[in-house]
Formats: sequence, C-alpha cells, structure tokens
Amino acid sequence: MKFADLHLHTNFSDGTFTPEELVLYAQKAGLACIALTDHDTVEGCERAAAACAKVQMEFIPGAELTAEIEDTEVHILGYFLDTKNPLLLDKIAKFQSVRQSRIHEMCAALNKMGVPLKPEAVFALANCKSPGRPHVARALVKEKLVANLDEAFERFLKKGRPAWVPKTKMSAVEAVELIHQAGGLAVMAHPGLNRTDEIIPGLVRAGLDGIECFHTKHSTVMAERYLEIAERHHLLVTGGSDCHGFSKNKPLIGTVKLPYEHVEKLKAAKKSADEKRAAI
Ligand code: AMP
Ligand code: ZN
Ligand code: FE
Ligand code: FE
Repeated sequence: MKFADLHLHTNFSDGTFTPEELVLYAQKAGLACIALTDHDTVEGCERAAAACAKVQMEFIPGAELTAEIEDTEVHILGYFLDTKNPLLLDKIAKFQSVRQSRIHEMCAALNKMGVPLKPEAVFALANCKSPGRPHVARALVKEKLVANLDEAFERFLKKGRPAWVPKTKMSAVEAVELIHQAGGLAVMAHPGLNRTDEIIPGLVRAGLDGIECFHTKHSTVMAERYLEIAERHHLLVTGGSDCHGFSKNKPLIGTVKLPYEHVEKLKAAKKSADEKRAAI
C-alpha cells in the first residue's frame, strides 16, 4: 500500500523543519507522496521538490491560504499550484505583509499588558515572510516570558485573548478562484476545526474541489462524516498530518496516512481541469 501526507509546514511559514528535513522525515515515515502547504506562501516548494526528486518521492506544490466565509475563518489548501503564477504571488505578498503588521500589533498588545516582547525578536526567530502566532509563542518562550507554547496561546494568543489580533483575510471565493487561476485544486482544510459545517455548501458553490477528511485533529467519526459529505457534494478526498515539526518529541508527518488512490483521483482531476482550461 502506498500512502501520502498532503498537509505539511516548513520554516517558510510556522513549521520548524527546513524543506530538506521535512523530506527526510517523509522518507523515514515511508511516504510515497507529500504536499507542502505552508501558510500563505509557496516559497518552500522549489527546495522541497528538489529534495523529493533526489529520493524519488512524489511531490505536490501547494499552500494553505487563510480565508473567510460568513465571518468564519477557513483555510483553503491549494494543490498542484504553479508557484510562479504572478497573480498568486502578488496576492500572497499582500497577505504576508498583513501577517507582518500583525506581529507589531500583537507585540504592542503584549507590551500594554507589561509583557516586554519586541517585534524584532519575533521576526528574528521567524526569519520568513509569513510569520504567525506560533512564532510569537516561540519568542515568548525563548525570552522566558511564558513557560511553554500552551501557556502562550492560553494566556495571550488564542482567539479572544488579549494579544489575539484578527487577520485581514481574502474571501473563500477569492481563495478558490486564485487557486484555480494558478492551475490548482482547492480543498477545504480540517473542516472539523471549524465551528460549523454550514459553510460547506457555499464553498462548493464557489467551486471547491475537495475536502480534507483525514487530519490529526479529526476523530474517526469526523472523518466518516466528511467522507459522506465529500460523496454527497462530489468532492475529492484529501488528508494530512498538518505537521509543524516536532510535537511531543516526534514529528507528526506520516501519522495521517492518505491511501494513494486519493492522490490518483486528485491527479485525474488536475489533468481534466487543465484540459478544460486549454479548450477555452
Ligand atoms: P495564525 O495563522 O498566525 O493565526 O496562526 C495559526 C497557527 O497557530 C495554526 O496553524 C497552528 O499552527 C497554531 N495554533 C493555533 N491555535 C493554537 C493553540 N491553541 N495552540 C498551539 N498552536 C496553535
Ligand atoms: Zn500553522
Ligand atoms: Fe490550518
Ligand atoms: Fe496547516
């Protein structure tokens, strides 16, 4: 049996592995195929593709776009993206700049509470264009302002906590269209983490291609529910670990195993979308 892990992060966003390290762990996990889905960036894809090519592992270039629909934050995964697509690069650059200003805002909120974290400390640690809350949390630990990452999120960074700053996001419709015009397939990430499934039909109307049924934070019951929803809406099925590096002393990569038949279906859908575009 061949397996894939189609939801992975590197240090080009808030993961801790370099693309090369990620591929090494993918090999150790015995995966046949991986996709890189960093938050609002495709920068790591070139290096990940090169590292995969060296060990004959299949690679899908992707990204996880932060979007919103009906006032709910939703993450849209793009697969088979043209990582040089000008509109994609232009749009994500804007959202990266939003992420960077947000670091300043989060630090200002922390400073107001007497927590002396400097934005420079976060940027130095993040060392990427797509900084996020995990970098702020790691910087707080590094500066000994909290004991651990959980404390950082619980006290300051979780939604509704004092240093939580909402992001300006693209609409989910825009995210789906952006992915399509860059040659990609659009997939709703970890639906089980959203408060409601009511947003799914709207995403389907926007042209959603698939839904992430298998995810680290999905129970078996949830996975079954989303498989049923996928069937009802004729959506592709994906899955991945959402590995951000080491978690409780081991990397999550490969702990969610997507049977390879789903990758075959994704590739067939990509081929037929390309053919449709070529015919226009
Ligand atoms: P951001 O995109 O900056 O809002 O950060 C979102 C990322 O923070 C997610 O992808 C997770 O990796 C991480 N995250 C969100 N909530 C928590 C939490 N309660 N504890 C630890 N990590 C979290
Ligand atoms: Zn993340
Ligand atoms: Fe996500
Ligand atoms: Fe993710």
